[in-house]
Amino acid sequence: MKVIVLGAGVIGTTSAWYLARAGHEVVVVDRRSHPGLETSFANGGQISVSHSEPWANPTAPFQIVRWLGREDAPLLFRPRLDREQWLWGLRFLRECLPARARRNTAQALALAIYSREQLQELRHETGIEYDARTRGILHLYEDRRELLHARAQVEFLRARGLDVSLKTLDECVELEPALRHAAHRFAGAAYARTDESGDASLFTRNLGELCRRRGVGFRFNVNIARIECDRGRVARVVVDDPQGAEESLRADVYVVALGSYSPLVLRPIGIAVPVYPVKGYSITLPLAAGDEAPVVSLTDHSRKLVFSRLGERLRVAGTAELNGYDSEINAVRCKALVDRCFELFPRAGRPGDAQFWTGLRPATPSNLPIVGRSRIENLYLNTGHGTLGWTLSCGSGRALADIVSGLRPEPQFGFLGLEPKKKGAAVPAAPRLSA
Ligand SMILES: Cc1cc2nc3c(=O)[nH]c(=O)nc-3n(C[C@H](O)[C@H](O)[C@H](O)COP(=O)(O)OP(=O)(O)OC[C@H]3O[C@@H](n4cnc5c(N)ncnc54)[C@H](O)[C@@H]3O)c2cc1C
Repeated sequence: MKVIVLGAGVIGTTSAWYLARAGHEVVVVDRRSHPGLETSFANGGQISVSHSEPWANPTAPFQIVRWLGREDAPLLFRPRLDREQWLWGLRFLRECLPARARRNTAQALALAIYSREQLQELRHETGIEYDARTRGILHLYEDRRELLHARAQVEFLRARGLDVSLKTLDECVELEPALRHAAHRFAGAAYARTDESGDASLFTRNLGELCRRRGVGFRFNVNIARIECDRGRVARVVVDDPQGAEESLRADVYVVALGSYSPLVLRPIGIAVPVYPVKGYSITLPLAAGDEAPVVSLTDHSRKLVFSRLGERLRVAGTAELNGYDSEINAVRCKALVDRCFELFPRAGRPGDAQFWTGLRPATPSNLPIVGRSRIENLYLNTGHGTLGWTLSCGSGRALADIVSGLRPEPQFGFLGLEPKKKGAAVPAAPRLSA
């Protein structure tokens, strides 16, 4: 079949790869000049299966209240006159209920485990390079209550076969010697040995090249203006170039992987997806010989920050701000990242060299992505990956390609438009949308 994939972020590009591998004729369309230049550009770099618990969990409402009014708050709600923002916020609160959070974690975990397997296979099959590291992720907790919650999470993950264990602070320093200046700040830690990290942007660009070699076509520098339907099917996608010239693109099947912008293109054709942009920041520090920066990927739970070593660079990323499609770089929030980085790693490069970046996570209230078939027969969605888009990319891309090819995807996940698998406990429904 001829398939048009809308969006060349990590999700659109992995979708294109698996679709082409399944024998489809694929064209990817994006407004940028290369794959992976928006939210997939400078994220935290973690392939974090062990962090499948969504932000919407029973501890979140208390944290948000605690941080209210603080410009540098790790989670920040900036109220706007925006119905979508308030609706999303209310749904987020509902997903914080313990039973829903447990259910969402189990689903995200199933897709994340599958996704990491797909990534490992892809690496093996193609030798793709992206500054990958397979030294696990160390989760650090400052607060004793957080550590108690983490203990329960560790039990939950271990019961599902994950290699995660609690670590003493001495063991943390043994694992990651760069922590020696800061270990005393933490109450405890958990280590997920099989987690990984790597540069999502480099991965997406290099996978784009591998796609091209497999025959995938790319249309860059065009804006997707609208999708047009006829008799219950997508008939064409209308794009315009920088001069404003319109063109219609046609295929048998269309896949929307437009990240945070997916709702804007879907709403006019009557499909409402609960995706809202959740802004995050990162800093990237170039490192020189002798700098003491961590090599093991770290998650600093009290600040909602992650640290990943990408070759000779250190990436620090995180925090969340609900503020619509605003993409301004806020100096206070950037400074909070730099300060925390040098508080923990005083010899990790030079603060003045930090490169700042912000991106809009395409977040659903549950943090579960929307992957599958919409109610428009030839329209498929792969969007809403929130905090875990890089982690879930290969699994979502592979599952989407399976669904387009008429196959049942492997993981126990609530794929859109598919009946749950009849095996063991009921599989929860996919995120609700009027698709
Ligand atoms: C600070 C931060 C840290 C993060 N850390 C991690 C992490 O450590 N691990 C992890 O797993 N995830 C992480 N994430 C999440 C992850 O980066 C995202 O979930 C993922 O990048 C989303 O990919 P995407 O392909 O859906 O969106 P995008 O990468 O944004 O791709 C969407 C594409 O659609 C194109 N597009 C949109 N609208 C149009 C239009 N109208 N016309 C043409 N093209 C259009 C854009 O140009 C873009 O290329 C982080 C995110 C942030 C912000």
